[in-house]
Amino acid sequence: MQALTPADLLQLWETGSEQTLIERSLLLLAKALPEQTLSSLAMLSIGERDEMLLSLREYLFGTKLKNTAVCPKCADIVEWESSSRDMHLQPVPPLSANSVLEFVREDLSIKYRLPNSTDLLRVTRNANFYIADPNKLLTDCIIDIQHNNQQVQVKNLDAETLQALEVQISNDDPQADIGMMLNCPACSNEWEAKFDILSYLWTEIDVWATHLLHEIYLLASAFGWAEKDILNMSPQRRTMYVKLIQV
Ligand SMILES: [Zn+2]
Repeated sequence: MQALTPADLLQLWETGSEQTLIERSLLLLAKALPEQTLSSLAMLSIGERDEMLLSLREYLFGTKLKNTAVCPKCADIVEWESSSRDMHLQPVPPLSANSVLEFVREDLSIKYRLPNSTDLLRVTRNANFYIADPNKLLTDCIIDIQHNNQQVQVKNLDAETLQALEVQISNDDPQADIGMMLNCPACSNEWEAKFDILSYLWTEIDVWATHLLHEIYLLASAFGWAEKDILNMSPQRRTMYVKLIQV
């Protein structure tokens, strides 16, 4: 991974504010991994992409995660800390992007691939189609179906087979769906909360950028320094100057 400077991250934050979480996360990865193209990153499976984002998050902000969730039973806010080191679930070595996998059930053989960011962006842009057909994302990933060496149409698959294929896909790509079992201290309710690295990381980048811009504002106002020069300082030095103004 390439070192991202505060100026890089601030630029990505600014550009990304007009984009979806998926698009801006891909831009962020492309900046950190200059050997990869945006389109090749968009073809990574969701678990692969999220594994990279989790590593990038550790690189930028460390491994400690401060989580909050709302208890679905009593609406109490539950807060806890965890380590992102416990969240690396993707198999090593990873599957290469667009690998063709096979699901076999009795005489049926389905060739498929794992869903990727391009698929999810298509879902967000054509939400009506995907609401009308809840299996569409799954069937988009089917490449070929054979029954006793005869080709079968996707529309002829029964609901049970589609469900089994969906389970298979989540087993192939475990990093795509991170759940944590939680226990509410107020009402003892237990439930599974989802961890979404995209929203977690971008909330953190938002807080970081707002704080940084506030520091730049204070230092530029007090000393007349240029934004570029303030950005080039280490965070420790910036914080020290801000403290000096506030004394
Ligand atoms: Zn509760």
